[in-house]
Amino acid sequence: MAKKDIDWSNIGFGYMKTDKRYVSNYKDGAWDEGILTGDDTVVISECAAVLQYAQTIFEGLKAYTTVDGRVVCFRPDLNAERMEDSAKRLEMPTFPKERFVDAVVKTVQANIDYVPPYGSGATLYLRPYMFGSDAVIGVKPATEYQFRLFCTPVGPYFKGGVKPITIRVSDFDRAAPNGTGHIKAGLNYAMSLHAIVDAHNQGFDENMYLDAATRTKVEETGGANFLFVTRDNKIVTPKSDSILPSITRRSLMSVAKDYLGLEVEQREVLFEEVPEFVECGLCGTAAVISPVGCISDHGKEIKFENGCTEMGPIIKKLRDTLTGIQMGQIGAPEGWIKEIK
Ligand SMILES: *Cc1c(COP(=O)(O)O)cnc(C)c1O
Repeated sequence: MAKKDIDWSNIGFGYMKTDKRYVSNYKDGAWDEGILTGDDTVVISECAAVLQYAQTIFEGLKAYTTVDGRVVCFRPDLNAERMEDSAKRLEMPTFPKERFVDAVVKTVQANIDYVPPYGSGATLYLRPYMFGSDAVIGVKPATEYQFRLFCTPVGPYFKGGVKPITIRVSDFDRAAPNGTGHIKAGLNYAMSLHAIVDAHNQGFDENMYLDAATRTKVEETGGANFLFVTRDNKIVTPKSDSILPSITRRSLMSVAKDYLGLEVEQREVLFEEVPEFVECGLCGTAAVISPVGCISDHGKEIKFENGCTEMGPIIKKLRDTLTGIQMGQIGAPEGWIKEIK
C-alpha cells in the first residue's frame, strides 16, 4: 500500500478518476449484490429516464485521515437516510441503508491510496448517486435503476486563507412550496445553473434564495444552508420545508449546543431581520462552513459586523470544533464517525 503521488495541498475541487467505484443495478424489483469495478463509464439506453426526465438523485460526503492515521467517514448513515427520502419523492426504489454504508466502506477501502494524508487539508470526496436507466418515453418512472458510488480526492476548500464571500439576493427561485427543494436531486441543480452563472457575471459568489411564495423569508443558497449568529451569540438557522436538510448544518447545531454551550434555534428567518445578525455562514460538506461577509439586496448592502473581512469568532469556533471532531482531535458524539478498517 502506497499513497498515490499527488500534490495533495494543491489539488482543486475537481474530478480525478480513481481505481474503483461501486455499482449495483436494480431490475425486476430487486437490487443485485453490487460490485467494485475499474470501469468509470456508464452505458445506458439513449432513452433512459435519467436522460429524458432527469430521474436522478445524489449524495455527497467525505473520507478523511485522522490525526492518529485512521481513515474515517462522517455520518454516512445520514446520507443513506436522506437518499432514501430523495428516492421516495422521485418514485425510485430505495437503496438499503446498510448497503449504502457498506458501499461507502468498500469504495474507500478500494481507493485507500487516494485518501489524502492528515494535515494536507485535502479529503476524499464520495459521490453516491442513483438514476433511472431503462427507456421511458411516456412520462413515468423507470423500472430499472443504477446505484453508483465513486470517489475523488479534493483539495482544501480555503486555499490561501479564508475570505468571507459576497452573495446576492436572487430574483430566481430555487424551490417551490410542496416542491422538491428538500431532496437532493439533480433537477434542483440544473435549474440553478443560470442563476449561479448570472451571479458570477455580476461579481457575486453565490445566490441567497428567499421563499418562493412570499419572497420575505430566507431559504438557502444553491448548495448550502444558512447559519446566523445573533448579537448575544445565539445560533439561528432557517426552518422551511423547501430547504435541503444539510448534515453539516445539523451537526454544527449539535456542536453549538453540546460542545460550546450556545443556544440554538431553528425557525423562520425573515429577510428583514438579517441585518440584526452579526455573523453569517454557509454550511455544507464541501466547505464545512464558509463565512458570508456581505449580502447585496439589489444595490443595498448588508455587511456583517463580525465577519466582513475575516471569519467571525463564533463561526470559527464552530468550524474548528466540527473539523476537530472529524479529524479525531476532539471526541465525537456516539455514531458520528465511521471508521474504515
Ligand atoms: C447538499 C446540499 C446542502 C449541504 O448538505 P450537506 O449534507 O451538509 O453536505 C445544502 N443545500 C443543498 C441544496 C444541497 O444540495
